[in-house]
Amino acid sequence: MSHTKYVFVTGGVASSLGKGIISASLGKLLQSRGLRVTIQKLDPYINIDPGTLNPYEHGECYVTEDGAETDLDLGHYERFLNVHTSQANNVTTGRVYQTVINRERKGDYLGKTVQVIPHITDEIKRRIKILGETGDYDIVITEIGGTVGDIESLPYIEAVRQLKYELGSNNSIVIHLTLIPYLKTSGELKTKPTQNSVKMLLESGIQPDILVCRTEYPLNDELKHKIALFCNVTPESVIESIDADTIYEVPLLMKKEQLDKVVLKKFNIAQFNETDLSRWDEFLYKLRNPIAKTKIGVVGKYVELKDAYKSIAESIIHASTHNQCKAEVEWIHSEDIEEMTDDELDQTLGSLNGILVAPGFGSRGIEGKIKTIRYAREHHIPFLGICLGMQCAVIEFARNVLGWTDANSTEFNPTSAWPVIDFVEGQTAEMHKGGTMRLGAYRCQILDNSQASSAYAKNEISERHRHRYEFNNDFLPDYEAHGMLATGINPEKSLVEIIEIPSHPWFVGVQFHPEYKSTVMNPHPLFIGFIHASLSVKKEKNPSLKTKKNES
Ligand code: GLN
Repeated sequence: MSHTKYVFVTGGVASSLGKGIISASLGKLLQSRGLRVTIQKLDPYINIDPGTLNPYEHGECYVTEDGAETDLDLGHYERFLNVHTSQANNVTTGRVYQTVINRERKGDYLGKTVQVIPHITDEIKRRIKILGETGDYDIVITEIGGTVGDIESLPYIEAVRQLKYELGSNNSIVIHLTLIPYLKTSGELKTKPTQNSVKMLLESGIQPDILVCRTEYPLNDELKHKIALFCNVTPESVIESIDADTIYEVPLLMKKEQLDKVVLKKFNIAQFNETDLSRWDEFLYKLRNPIAKTKIGVVGKYVELKDAYKSIAESIIHASTHNQCKAEVEWIHSEDIEEMTDDELDQTLGSLNGILVAPGFGSRGIEGKIKTIRYAREHHIPFLGICLGMQCAVIEFARNVLGWTDANSTEFNPTSAWPVIDFVEGQTAEMHKGGTMRLGAYRCQILDNSQASSAYAKNEISERHRHRYEFNNDFLPDYEAHGMLATGINPEKSLVEIIEIPSHPWFVGVQFHPEYKSTVMNPHPLFIGFIHASLSVKKEKNPSLKTKKNES
């Protein structure tokens, strides 16, 4: 295709309608026709990135190959499209203003008054076009965060208005995602909120080309015609988006509604390959028809908010589908574990087939994680520790196997006599909170005959990171002498990336975040290995004897 085409996705009526999933689904459909697609998210908050945001505020912080800390929607984009995103795929108001203010300080505006229009909107437009200008994509889908009418979204909406005009209607379209609520008392679907939200877009100078309408019940033709009439779109451009039982069904629902066809028509792209979703269909079939069951406990401190562990939850789904099983996930609060008696611990953890200890920052809930890991280690329950989860496994082993009762990470106890997890000199001396961690993809070499090497089936991998602290190599000989091995090492800095306990059926801790790389088409090998182990491992019913031996 000669010109990159731009699809803007806005949202109206209410937040949380799933713009990210609709964007990812449309991207998937266009990609399955052979088009090269990427998706970008514009976030109207003033933080430079979500890296410093509490997960309760904003859900998970997703990390790209190039080390950008981004909105969790980028995770959906990667999981659906199976292509990498980058820093350019997530733009925040903070970044836009920072660029403009830096330029102003340098004197780039030659004495002019710097204003929202045109300077901020120009910078937004520049960042929207960056991906298109690489020449790597036929279609760039840009999701505008927030809801139309929000004060902070205004510059983005204005930038879209200008771009639509500059690029022309053959090269850019706006899809507006709205809600058609159902009123139980009158038994009716109501279109007024959609009409009003389109009116609001019109006030900003934007006529949406396509309306995707979230609804609990099917929209009949009459309703679609009514919406079309009031909102100045063709009836075929009114797309029903009915509630789905899994997000992975949405591409198929959108295909049924011909969303991709309507988009191609608007772009005047006459002939293009038919969609080929056969592998996706296969995944969905397996997802819906599991032949086994497993119970996985995820222990973390943000479990009340599922979005805080979005990528982990999705990775479990990908890997269990691959293993043709359904994983029932128990979300367990690490602080709840802290006060539990042995009996309560048995009740909470005893029936699990696998335990995953989640990443995190700060000391809250740490002791609960450590207690959980001891249980998993002693009862031979398959264990996967991710980042902080791995660090806690290292602390647990030091305290309960090596007998170093005061062992800790210097993140939690800077004066520990056994700082088994420590800040590594020279990595970065910068202790400011924003963007100062080991971030993005790093290489890792894997030892033969390890769980990791059999999971990955290769010796050299690359995984994404997001942390400040590392395994303290001073203590490695003690660990290895007592049965915890470093089976993955970063070759550049000799940093420990993977730890394992070979005498345990499946005990793996990783300093990196495998969950960021699991996609529908490529479930992550470690998650596959973990779920597989959860299906096959016999747990240790009475580990007391073993523990005594270890502790002596
Ligand atoms: N808090 C730990 C560190 O900074 C772990 C981070 C994480 O789990 N992502 O090293």
